[in-house]
Amino acid sequence: MVRAVSASHLRAIDEKLVGFRTRNDFSEIHSTKTQGVFAARDWIVAQFQKIAATTGGRMTVRLDTYVQPKLKFTPRAVTESSVIATLRGSEPGRIYVMSSHYDDCNGNCTDGLGVAPGADDNGSGTSAVLEAARVMAATHFRGTIIFACFDGEELGLWGSAHFAKEMAAKHAPILADLNNDIVGNSKTHTGRSVFHTLRIFSEALPVGAKRRLVNLLGTENDSPSRELARFIVSTDKLYLPHLHIQEIFRADRFLRGGDQESFQDAGYPAIRFTEASEVFEHQHQNVRVQNGIQYGDLPQYIDPRYLAQSTRANVAALATLALGPAAPTHVHIVLAHLGYTTTLRWHRSADAAGYEVLWRKTDAATWQHVRAVGNVTTITLPISYDDDLFAVRSVDASGLRSVGVFPTPVRK
Ligand SMILES: [Zn+2]
Repeated sequence: MVRAVSASHLRAIDEKLVGFRTRNDFSEIHSTKTQGVFAARDWIVAQFQKIAATTGGRMTVRLDTYVQPKLKFTPRAVTESSVIATLRGSEPGRIYVMSSHYDDCNGNCTDGLGVAPGADDNGSGTSAVLEAARVMAATHFRGTIIFACFDGEELGLWGSAHFAKEMAAKHAPILADLNNDIVGNSKTHTGRSVFHTLRIFSEALPVGAKRRLVNLLGTENDSPSRELARFIVSTDKLYLPHLHIQEIFRADRFLRGGDQESFQDAGYPAIRFTEASEVFEHQHQNVRVQNGIQYGDLPQYIDPRYLAQSTRANVAALATLALGPAAPTHVHIVLAHLGYTTTLRWHRSADAAGYEVLWRKTDAATWQHVRAVGNVTTITLPISYDDDLFAVRSVDASGLRSVGVFPTPVRK
C-alpha cells in the first residue's frame, strides 16, 4: 500500500482541485459544474464513488451537510458540506479517521468570488486523503477507516467540529484522527530543501484533564493524542527510513489551529501532519506579483514527491492501526504498597499474541525502552514508578503493534 502511492496521481488530483478556481466557503452559492467549492465537493464525491465501486460494498460515501449560521465576522449564513467515505472493517468498536479540509481561502476568507487556488492549503491534504483511499481500498481491515474531506475549516473548523460532535453524540469509537493540512511543499521560504522532514502536532492535555492529577501522576506529556503521535513516528520509521517526523509538542502551530482539534475537543485522540516549513507568501494570499515576489497558493510550489511521502506516512500508520491488534484496555499501575518495583496490569485485546511494556525517564521525549513480556496480563518490572513513565501495547501474530496505552493507578 505504501509503495502504491503515486506522485503523479497526487499531482493530477491537486491540479484538478486548483482548477475549480476557488473553494472558498462563500463560493457555494456561485458554484457551477466546474467552478466553486461545491463543484470541487461533487468531484471529490465522484472520486470516492469510483473507489467505492471496487470494494464490494465495503466503502460507502456520504455528505455531512448543514447550515452554519451567520457570525459576527461572516456576511451571512452559509451551507457547509463535508465528504465522508467509510471503509468498513471486520471488527466493531474501532474507527480510524484520515482527514483534510478541501475548502480554501485567498487573502480574504469570506471572498466567494476571487481566485483562491489552495494548492497546498489544502489541496495537498485532500489529494493525500483521496490517494490513500485509492491504495487502501482493496485491503480488508479489522478496523473501519473513515476518509474525510471537511468543508468550513478556514473560518473556524466548522465542518470537522460538526462531524466530530455528531460522532461523539453517537459514542462512535474513534481511536485516531490523522489530519493533513499543508503537506505538499518541500522547501523553506529561502528555497532550502527540507524534503526529509514532516511535522506532527499533538495536544498536551486531553479534555477533562485535572491540574491536581496531571501534577500528581506526571501525565503532561502523555495524552492519548501524544501516544498516537509517538506510535506514528515509530511505525513510519519501519516503512520510510529516510523520513524524519519532527514531533511538535503542541496542539498546532503557535496560536493557530486545525481540524484535529475538533476531534480532540470531542474527546478523540488526533494529530496534525504539516510540512516541515510553511511558506507564508503562498498561504491565504491573493495571487499577484509584488516587488518581484510571486504570492498565492499555486500548484508550482507543490513537490509531488514530497506530497507522496506525506501520503505514505499516513498510509503506513493508518494501515498498521486498522490491520493490527487492538490496544490493551484497563491498563493500570497497581499500587499495593510503596516499593521499588512497578506492577502493570491490563485486559487482553482480542487480536493480541502478546504485549510489550514501554518506558522512559520523565524528562525523555520518547520511549527509551521496550520489553516483550509474552501473552500475560500483568508484569512486575524492577523499575521505580517514581522516576519512569510506562505504557503497554499489543503485538499480534504478524508483529504489528498497537498504540501504547498510558496506565492509570489502581490500589490492588
Ligand atoms: Zn489549512
